[in-house]
Amino acid sequence: MHILEETKVNDIIFKDENFSIQYKNDAINCKVVAGCFGKRSNLDVKWSRNFIKKKPGKLNNYIGVKYHIKTSFPFDKIALHNFKNGYCGISKVEGDAYCLCYLTTAQNLKQNNNSIKEMEKNILYKNPFLKKIFSESEFIFQEPVTISQISFNKKSLIENHVLMIGDAAGMITPLCGNGMSMALHSSKIAFECIISFLNKNITRDQMENEYEHQWKKKFQKRLRTGRMVQKLFGKEFSTNIFIRFIKPFPFLINKIIKATHGKEF
Ligand SMILES: Cc1cc2nc3c(=O)[nH]c(=O)nc-3n(C[C@H](O)[C@H](O)[C@H](O)COP(=O)(O)OP(=O)(O)OC[C@H]3O[C@@H](n4cnc5c(N)ncnc54)[C@H](O)[C@@H]3O)c2cc1C
Repeated sequence: MHILEETKVNDIIFKDENFSIQYKNDAINCKVVAGCFGKRSNLDVKWSRNFIKKKPGKLNNYIGVKYHIKTSFPFDKIALHNFKNGYCGISKVEGDAYCLCYLTTAQNLKQNNNSIKEMEKNILYKNPFLKKIFSESEFIFQEPVTISQISFNKKSLIENHVLMIGDAAGMITPLCGNGMSMALHSSKIAFECIISFLNKNITRDQMENEYEHQWKKKFQKRLRTGRMVQKLFGKEFSTNIFIRFIKPFPFLINKIIKATHGKEF
């Protein structure tokens, strides 16, 4: 097995039942390619995938901001705090650090002169829990880790005969699911289809159809529910109504968690 580190793939071309994976000034030829290049990569742009062409909307123009902090917070608790057009989670990670991470709209940032600090002060601090965490914690990073143009829109599962895996196949909203587990699950499904193809038990078409079928069976409903809940959250009015309505019914909360998180590996 060869692993090429620090190597960016520039293109993947399918011709005469074979792929050419192109990187730097070189290329590798192979029979099957699995695309596990995350939520938004140069290949998505190069191939003009449908989700890239979508106009900014409710499900595709998010930014993520992450800090590691030292703070006084129970190590066995995961909290999620709401703010206008977003939510912020806090949970214990390695050592004595906590991960403080939020998702919000690009619009929120734009309205605050594209300044993360300004946005936090003007919007996140309106939630007293967040104000307390942000003003009383020690921030470990000089600057937060940020990502933009996050899209929760539907994605194609096969593109140019490449089987898409993990976030490249579709991203669950962080509020609703465990994307890392989904990435592992989808690679298992792909592996089972690929091995049958390589053993000549099925054709390429069958491999692609089977992958699509199994992926949808496992994730489609989950992603749909996730998108629905995501649309509700962050809007102050609908979020408050939703939480007020659902709080007295823990069985409903469990039902939503089950519908979005799937079974353990
Ligand atoms: C704000 C936020 C919070 C989240 N919180 C959680 C959480 O608490 N728990 C959880 O389970 N999940 C969470 N997720 C989701 C989780 O991060 C992803 O679902 C998961 O990392 C997907 O794994 P992946 O392997 O598909 O993609 P990635 O982890 O993104 O890996 C893709 C890799 O491919 C590389 N790559 C891209 N293009 C190329 C190229 N052309 N050539 C070579 N390499 C390339 C990238 O550099 C990257 O290293 C969160 C996501 C966001 C946005």
